Amino acid sequence: MSPRVWVVTGGAGFIGSNLVEALLCRGERVRALDDFSSGRRSNLAAVDDWARTGGAEFELIEGDVRDADLCRRLVDGASFVLHQAAIPSVPRSVEDPLTSHDVNVDGTLQLLEAARHARIGRFVFASSSSIYGESETLPKVETMPPDPISPYGLQKLTAESYCGLYWRLYGLPTVSLRYFNIFGPRQDPASDYAAVVPRFLTAVDRGRRPTVYGDGEQTRDFTYVANAVAANLGACEAKPVAFGRTYNVGAGRRTSLNALLAEIGRLVGRDIDPIYEPARAGDILHSLAAIERAQSDLGYRVTVDLAEGLRRTRESL
Ligand code: NAD
Repeated sequence: MSPRVWVVTGGAGFIGSNLVEALLCRGERVRALDDFSSGRRSNLAAVDDWARTGGAEFELIEGDVRDADLCRRLVDGASFVLHQAAIPSVPRSVEDPLTSHDVNVDGTLQLLEAARHARIGRFVFASSSSIYGESETLPKVETMPPDPISPYGLQKLTAESYCGLYWRLYGLPTVSLRYFNIFGPRQDPASDYAAVVPRFLTAVDRGRRPTVYGDGEQTRDFTYVANAVAANLGACEAKPVAFGRTYNVGAGRRTSLNALLAEIGRLVGRDIDPIYEPARAGDILHSLAAIERAQSDLGYRVTVDLAEGLRRTRESL
């Protein structure tokens, strides 16, 4: 029996390239799509070499997820779609809401349509904790009313709703994953999310003092990328109870930036003395995922903790 085909959109991006690698390591066939707007060919360099020498069945298609014909060809004969492609930036969505809406909502809708007609077995959507907005209630539970405060958050919420609707209306088995501050190898230090992790690690490795905005007591649920990969694989194996639903994907633990620096200090064997700058307007103070729903429906487990995730990320720099 030939292995099943997995489609990964945004496959040359940070999370997408980690998904591609994990799938190929399991001997799966992977077809990736990327327009290289924020993703890089170099993120897939190791995979490309491996495919060229016949070690992996991998195909990379350059193109835009908003292209309906391309979406149809992309999902043809596939079993699973892991939809990561997006313009994943809050500031860009504020500056140019139309373009990010086009990619984040219309692009998702194009892919859902193609997946519906191709009768794809599972469609997993990369959503975001940003749909929760500014509410101070912790932890964030999936049943809380969403209240996004940026076009990006609203676009993720809209795309999630389309995923839910495609299950109810057309029976396309969709699962939406709300990622919380994912970090790990190949993350662009200039990106919005857990970018403090690569930024802090790079600064410390180069002997520079990292910059902290605010007093450093703000907290985030830093989640190593292998856990996000596991959540995607769990979503593809989940029972129908998960279809059309949304799931938080976090570590279920919050860490302040000061505690993160202390952890990095332990890793490099010296104390770190950051530069404190005034807090940035609009930054939320605290974030933490409730992960019980993902644990029970997707079999999700946090297998790589912060310390180990930091060690692996540093090694990859
Ligand atoms: P990333 O920028 O590395 O990946 C996004 C990928 O999508 C890039 O490779 C980019 O080139 C590609 N892309 C963008 N527009 C495209 C288009 N029109 N057609 C085809 N490809 C296109 O970012 P990431 O951190 O890996 O994010 C992956 C997904 O996870 C995104 O949907 C993002 O919104 C979501 N997310 C990430 C985090 C996080 O902590 N990193 C948190 C919440 C949600």
